[in-house]
Amino acid sequence: MSTCKGFAAAKAGAPLGPYSFERREAREHDVVIDIKYCGICHSDIHQARDQWSEYQEEAIFPMVPGHEIAGIVTRVGPKVTKYKVGDKVGIGCFVDSCRSCAECKAGLEQYCSVQTVWTYNARDKEGQPTYGGYSERIIADENYVLRMPNNLPLEACAPLLCAGITLYSPLRHWKAGPGKRVAIIGLGGLGHMGVKIAHAMGADVTVLSQSLKKQADGKRLGADHFYATSDPETFTKLAGSFDLIINTVSAQIDWSQYLDLLKLDGTMVIVGLPEKDIPVGAFSLTARRRSIAGSQIGGIRETQEMLDFCSKHNIGSDIEVIPIQKVNEAYERVLKSDVRYRFVIDMGSLK
Ligand SMILES: [Zn+2]
Ligand SMILES: [Zn+2]
Repeated sequence: MSTCKGFAAAKAGAPLGPYSFERREAREHDVVIDIKYCGICHSDIHQARDQWSEYQEEAIFPMVPGHEIAGIVTRVGPKVTKYKVGDKVGIGCFVDSCRSCAECKAGLEQYCSVQTVWTYNARDKEGQPTYGGYSERIIADENYVLRMPNNLPLEACAPLLCAGITLYSPLRHWKAGPGKRVAIIGLGGLGHMGVKIAHAMGADVTVLSQSLKKQADGKRLGADHFYATSDPETFTKLAGSFDLIINTVSAQIDWSQYLDLLKLDGTMVIVGLPEKDIPVGAFSLTARRRSIAGSQIGGIRETQEMLDFCSKHNIGSDIEVIPIQKVNEAYERVLKSDVRYRFVIDMGSLK
């Protein structure tokens, strides 16, 4: 074991502060990563405040959040073949899984039917708590490590590891591309990645945002159209328009109203997580054989594919870099949607 410095919430809802904890020694297949940057995901806040207790196992405190981790390899175990010291690498939302179920074998470790070991607020196969990226170092098996783009700033790529893959995976699965009309609901940390990626895939992209406040930004990011959902005319004008809608908002909105914007056989994919259940009108689905679906991040293979895609298309996240000492302030700003579009912590500030 070796001592690692980080920032943690001591208990549910407590402000984050300095915390030292133990990380395991590197095993044969492990990669030791010096963390340079870590993105702040909305789910870090939900978990640090224990707001998902209904949906998951008991939260583990003190909790070191962070699952958009970008850094440099400083050491590798003797059996590591994919990475070497000095490589730019990343860790996303999970650090292990059972490796033998049908989902794992299909490269869908995020849906492992036995145990996906989440990057923090979980227990590894030895039962030890996992600690995330708001820390100086992380150790993981090479099969759960990603190679980061060499042509883009590392800090701008950290959010690809959750926000990026959360949008890339459903866009790929439901075949966004030329000739497809795609709508992204919400232009925040997730939504802005969706616009960039869907645009790069060649789809016709529409942003559905509460107001027109971010219209110029939306167009700059690659949107072809931009509509305010506070304007009731938006829903009459766009009825039956889209092949695919990705809903990134976690607010309670009327899903049926958005389903009505889908064409025949269109799909609305939920990637934001509202705290309460939202009812869906059956007529909105049956009228045009529409579907409603959900999607959760992506597997290691697809996450690497997404990173390579982003490298090729020069796609990073639009970020605001902060020192770790400002993390509590940043959380409040995330809750007010006061960030364009992702906070990334400069982990050098821990020293
Ligand atoms: Zn996340
Ligand atoms: Zn599995």
